[in-house]
Amino acid sequence: MTLIEEKTATGKDSEVSLGQPVNWSVAIVMGIFHVAAVAALFVFSWQLLAASIFLYWIATGLGISMGYHRLHTHRSYKVPLFLEYFFAVCGALTMEGGPISWVATHRIHHQNSDREGDPHSPRDGGWWSHAGWILTGEANHSNTRKMSRYAPDLAKHNFYVLLNNYHWVPLLALAILLGAIGGYKLVLWGIFLRVVFGLHTTWLVNSATHMWGSRRFATRDDSRNNWWVALLTFGEGWHNNHHAHPTSARHGLAWYEFDPSWLLLRVLRSFGVAKSVRMAGLTDAAADPKAA
Ligand SMILES: [Zn+2]
Ligand SMILES: [Zn+2]
Repeated sequence: MTLIEEKTATGKDSEVSLGQPVNWSVAIVMGIFHVAAVAALFVFSWQLLAASIFLYWIATGLGISMGYHRLHTHRSYKVPLFLEYFFAVCGALTMEGGPISWVATHRIHHQNSDREGDPHSPRDGGWWSHAGWILTGEANHSNTRKMSRYAPDLAKHNFYVLLNNYHWVPLLALAILLGAIGGYKLVLWGIFLRVVFGLHTTWLVNSATHMWGSRRFATRDDSRNNWWVALLTFGEGWHNNHHAHPTSARHGLAWYEFDPSWLLLRVLRSFGVAKSVRMAGLTDAAADPKAA
């Protein structure tokens, strides 16, 4: 990742800054999704809830935590390419953009955490770090060429370029499939409510875990370990651990730090599916803030 570091070290390449006008196309889509998510609550059933939780695990658990974050951004382990691609498609189901854009944004976050150039630091406001940066930022989610500068390792795969340009296609296909299987109620739960829930839990990692929780490591940023965010995000809430050891596939470092993605990774490793798994432990003395 040294190439990335060199390119972003100055902070001048920051993609997002304060004071930009509202991005209305993003805001309108977000508005529609939130209204539909509330509407879903009026057609509750246990089957719908179960389907929604399962899809949440597929999209946010496999797609974001296992895929976009620990695999595509930080390369903390290796899996066969088809599984890498599968995780990326799962990630696109969250409506958090394509893999190249997500990875680029997150690498910039690590490079400039809570300093100038961080796309979503609570030092610029709690609401800004949660959703403001999405609503008023430049719409770079489809600007593959621009974002590829920060993710050249992904950009050399045509698959990732295609998925980044058409990141909304898997979600649309899933919506059509769910509609055919279970009608509008399943679409409300499996798409709208599930996507909105996933967006907010992911955004909590940007907002809450840079404001609330404990700090095991004296990193140069404000990152915290937050148990309830970790519970909601398959272990992503152990964010101070993560900033201290960005390339560790394991985020929950103590036995009481529940980290479902790490547990799954251990299973994949035991079957020989996941290899070169990088792991930090509590014995690794001080944080190395230079590692990003
Ligand atoms: Zn962070
Ligand atoms: Zn990270």
